[in-house]
Amino acid sequence: MAKKRSTRAGRATGTKTAARAQKRAPRQQPQAATASAEELKELKKRVRTIIRRLKKAYPDARPELRFSNPLELLVATVLSAQCTDERVNRVTESLFKKYRSAEDYAKADRKQLEEEIKPTGFYRRKAELIQQMARALVEQFGGEVPRTIEEMTRLPGVGRKTANVVLGAAMGVASGIVVDTHVHRVARRLGLTRQKDPDKIEQDLMQLVPRSEWIHFGMSLVLHGRYVCTARKPKCDQCILSDVCPKVGVK
Ligand code: SF4
Repeated sequence: MAKKRSTRAGRATGTKTAARAQKRAPRQQPQAATASAEELKELKKRVRTIIRRLKKAYPDARPELRFSNPLELLVATVLSAQCTDERVNRVTESLFKKYRSAEDYAKADRKQLEEEIKPTGFYRRKAELIQQMARALVEQFGGEVPRTIEEMTRLPGVGRKTANVVLGAAMGVASGIVVDTHVHRVARRLGLTRQKDPDKIEQDLMQLVPRSEWIHFGMSLVLHGRYVCTARKPKCDQCILSDVCPKVGVK
């Protein structure tokens, strides 16, 4: 896994683009929801550049959680709260062999399920959520994961972030843009939003990014935040977005 990280970070850094980028970092302040028509035009132009570069740096951006169907990604996403993807992947390797349908989770012995997911932390709450979610899938959707964000967010414990991850990565449905802690941070530094609430950040991003790019944009920003635009020490000197990033709040 460590190898994978360095590969990804390396792909997104150390390029000629990054070197050029450093010389031309913009000084402008961010504008998004409050931008004038002219500012919005400029902002969208900058976003097109950002999209282009992210596509080049992360051509196959997708969650690092292992899954082979929407239900597996849904369960893995619940387990990933306050836990690393690596640890979740270790747990789901055996979990997914045992539980193959929503009904399997719904009928599972709670204590047994808790033991199986214990390494991911908060296991009692997670087991409860998984079973509530599984029962809702069985009772309301015939055991299938629904294909709309409205239906997905009706499931217990499923918010827009989880719904967007599952719909986008496992079903190819562009329901919105994933806003996790990384996207939250990077979008603000890039000056694409001034909001702090994830739903409002998502709305700002959805205004700026064409719908056809929503899935990749969110997933690649997650990776960029994880490996380059890190919370404590962003690697601006190696970043492919440096010339189009106002670095809001970066010291
Ligand atoms: S703040 Fe983040 S996105 Fe902006 S240049 Fe630095 S590392 Fe890149």
